[in-house]
Amino acid sequence: MAEKAEILRRYRGLLRSIKGHRTAEESRMIRKAFNIAVEAHKDQRRKTGEPYIYHPIAVARICAEEIGLGTTSVVAALLHDTVEDTDLTLDDVKDLFGPTVATIIDGLTKISGLQFNTDSIQAENFRKVLLTLAQDVRVILVKLADRLHNMRTLDSMARDKQLKIASETIFLYAPMAHRLGLYSIKSELEDLSLKFKEPTIYEEISQKLKKGEAVRKRFISRFTLPIRESLDREGFSYEIKGRPKSVHSIYNKMLTKHVSFEEVYDIFAIRIIIDTRTELEKADCWKVYSIVTDYYQPSPDRLRDWISLPKANGYESLHTTVMSPGGRWVEVQIRSKRMDDIAEMGLAAHYRYKDGEETTSALDNWLNRIREMLEDPSSNAIDFVNDFKLDLFSDEIVVFTPSGEMRNLPAGATALDFAFEIHSQIGRQCIGAKVNHKLVPLSQPLRGGDQVEIITSRKQQPKEDWLNFVATAKARHGIKQALREQKQKLAVVGRETVQRQLRGWGAKVDQGNIKVLVEHLGASSPTDLFYQVARGKYDLAQLRIPAVKSGRLVLPKHKPKADERPLEEVVAEIRGHHQGALSLGDDLQQIQYTLSPCCNPIAGDDVFGFITLSEGIKIHRVNCPNAVQLMSNFAYRIVKARWKGKDTVEFLAGIKFSGIDDVGLVNKITTIISHEHNVNMRAISFESNDGIFEGKVMAYVHDTDHLNSLMEKLRRVRGVRMVERVDQ
Ligand code: MN
Repeated sequence: MAEKAEILRRYRGLLRSIKGHRTAEESRMIRKAFNIAVEAHKDQRRKTGEPYIYHPIAVARICAEEIGLGTTSVVAALLHDTVEDTDLTLDDVKDLFGPTVATIIDGLTKISGLQFNTDSIQAENFRKVLLTLAQDVRVILVKLADRLHNMRTLDSMARDKQLKIASETIFLYAPMAHRLGLYSIKSELEDLSLKFKEPTIYEEISQKLKKGEAVRKRFISRFTLPIRESLDREGFSYEIKGRPKSVHSIYNKMLTKHVSFEEVYDIFAIRIIIDTRTELEKADCWKVYSIVTDYYQPSPDRLRDWISLPKANGYESLHTTVMSPGGRWVEVQIRSKRMDDIAEMGLAAHYRYKDGEETTSALDNWLNRIREMLEDPSSNAIDFVNDFKLDLFSDEIVVFTPSGEMRNLPAGATALDFAFEIHSQIGRQCIGAKVNHKLVPLSQPLRGGDQVEIITSRKQQPKEDWLNFVATAKARHGIKQALREQKQKLAVVGRETVQRQLRGWGAKVDQGNIKVLVEHLGASSPTDLFYQVARGKYDLAQLRIPAVKSGRLVLPKHKPKADERPLEEVVAEIRGHHQGALSLGDDLQQIQYTLSPCCNPIAGDDVFGFITLSEGIKIHRVNCPNAVQLMSNFAYRIVKARWKGKDTVEFLAGIKFSGIDDVGLVNKITTIISHEHNVNMRAISFESNDGIFEGKVMAYVHDTDHLNSLMEKLRRVRGVRMVERVDQ
């Protein structure tokens, strides 16, 4: 009965978290959804042993409190797992709550309902998510809330499940949250993924963050004191937040910029949020900028004005980086309350501020673009996901048309991307461009502020290699579609050739005989056969004259090679051998495994096995650059793997280091590696430039302990500044 009280307590917490006024009817709907969900889930428990209903209540609360969604979403969130896991049907939901809630639940059920059997199903799944997103964006918002709660409670899951869910989150859901402008949810998802994928690193960074907290607070309050005084004098109503960086963003910077925690952490950030009327906010933000720079010197190349040119996801803010008296850089973000709401809660706030009037924002444009892509039935699901992900990750630049119209493009976009952005027909016929009145090739990368004019020719046709220099999903998609059309045109020509040849042999022109040719030549489909014939890859005249029996073509069948067994068979066989985790380093190996060269795992690394067709199991490190992709797209091919005991096996590992060049340094380093540690060096390279040297060593070590102690010794050499492990 204590449980019942706790359920009610959590329910009341949810009600309090819903913002704004509720009508009596709305309150009744929420109550009804709660009652039905409690009843439907009454016999279920979560992995933690808690009543299942805690989960939908928590998801609903995230929707209300952290995304700012209203009654419909709260109701859908309460019911989100009922149709999938309980006796309640979609029709029941429709009868009880109307078609909108039913559509959202249907979308949510479809996302999670499918099993991963083949590579394309995960992709197909994702496409379905987006299809529903195009119908009602609340599907994806509730899904993000669901995923966030699952990530927050991931502790109770098995390790392989944790890795899979964390990978999927970083692969898909965090970028999605980013694209929808849900910054706090995005960084929490990223932090939680890191926590499960790299527990040691996560712990280390968060400990350091906690330790620095008091110092940071003191610094910020001293730094903001003169600013506060001025803002008060000017009569601003404002709020100043010291913004701690997320663990994930710190780790990411350490990795990509090869710097230490201290160097990343050194840049402090504060945010000044002013409460002002919409028509004054731009002028007021610049007034605040002027106050800040009265006290502190700004860095001229670090000024970002996303108020005049908002990001595609609706983000608006003024950023500058200034020098504090202590010689420390501080990033200052200046924005209005409205801009801050949009930055924190994204889409939902965006629609709230739209007040029903139909202005098309950059975000609407993005959603429209997705709809366009989805409406093309011919595109293949995996391609689609890859193209779409391009769009999710990229930073943006703003460029202009000859008439001064503004267009957002991802960083790295070329003149050709711009052409497709204007119109797919212009893209197809693009032969070059004028950028700032200068003639450039269509592969020319654009820079922010460029003015671009596209030159077209009706004779132009998209080429295969165009795919190598476009950065937008729209351009990729347009080029692929054009190539497909060209292929189909060629296939028509090829079909005639095939038919002529069949008649020449005295065989019937029908599906059966065409299938014989497809199989004999190893084409993937009749269309592929026709296309390859037209291109000249298959030359029918070169075929041995086939036997023809009463109109039927008789040719030896193309036999599949041993490694062309269906993947499912290979997976089943390996899984059959290994119910539990695969133990690596055993003498008695039943299963062939190889260490993947992309991340060179060594004993002691956190690893997993990936089943391949031709090379058995490949072992990757959990933090391998390819791991996220493998784990989230091909979960069914993953086997658990762990190292067993210590033995004499040696592993190749790479170490990179740099420092100040000094006489005898190279000698010192090689001595340490070869003598003191008794390890086998395979390759070593040094490069020295203006007194700075960089070096790389590939050496054989026993395990991670061995490698770490070696790296520790190298770090202690005088003049050495940085030592880190590299994959290759
Ligand atoms: Mn759920």
